[in-house]
Amino acid sequence: MSIQENLHIIKSTLPVNVQLVAVSKTKPTSDILEAYNAGQRVFGENKIQEMANKFEQLPKDIEWHMIGHLQRNKVKYMASFVHLIHGVDSFKTLKEINKQALKHNRIINCLLEVKIASEATKFGLSFNEVQQILTSVELKELKNINIQGFMGMASFTNDKTIVHSEFKTLKTQFESSKKYSLQNFNPTILSMGMSGDYKIAIEEGSTMVRVGSAIFGARNYT
Ligand SMILES: *Cc1c(COP(=O)(O)O)cnc(C)c1O
Repeated sequence: MSIQENLHIIKSTLPVNVQLVAVSKTKPTSDILEAYNAGQRVFGENKIQEMANKFEQLPKDIEWHMIGHLQRNKVKYMASFVHLIHGVDSFKTLKEINKQALKHNRIINCLLEVKIASEATKFGLSFNEVQQILTSVELKELKNINIQGFMGMASFTNDKTIVHSEFKTLKTQFESSKKYSLQNFNPTILSMGMSGDYKIAIEEGSTMVRVGSAIFGARNYT
């Protein structure tokens, strides 16, 4: 099936309050344009340099989301245009984003990445660390970031009960974080769900799904 057909089918199943991030990492700009011509405007990439190159070449009304693990020294390459950074997993990174945002006189939207999977390889903060960040006095000084919520990735498993329960845990934490009242913390986005598990994520309260291969086909990393 074509990219346009895949997009159409997925979009027709999403509730109105769930936003679709089309994950275009490794895919050529021609694929992104095909999705763009089908009406898609929100795209996700996991490498800053690749995203910056695509930003240069593609229509400027695209919203670029950085969904990958961040290297702090590369934040500057996307600070002028990135719409939402999903994978923030340290206070140091928040500080760097704030610094680069200030240089461009803008506020950069971020999500805190929370580790919900049991696998040792997944990045992310513990709920304890999230609380520490949200209650730190230093956070109040970061006036050029806006933390809009959380992002999480479930375990890569066929056991749906595990996936359900990991997403449910994040949703619970997301709701309870709303008690923190801060200028730069406005939790409205819960980014969870990929091609293999976005339906489960939506059942558990996701407001933003990051779908790649189900739209663009399998990725070839060679
Ligand atoms: C690659 C990636 C996705 C999309 O994965 P698919 O399984 O192709 O939908 C979503 N989120 C993150 C963080 C990713 O790196």
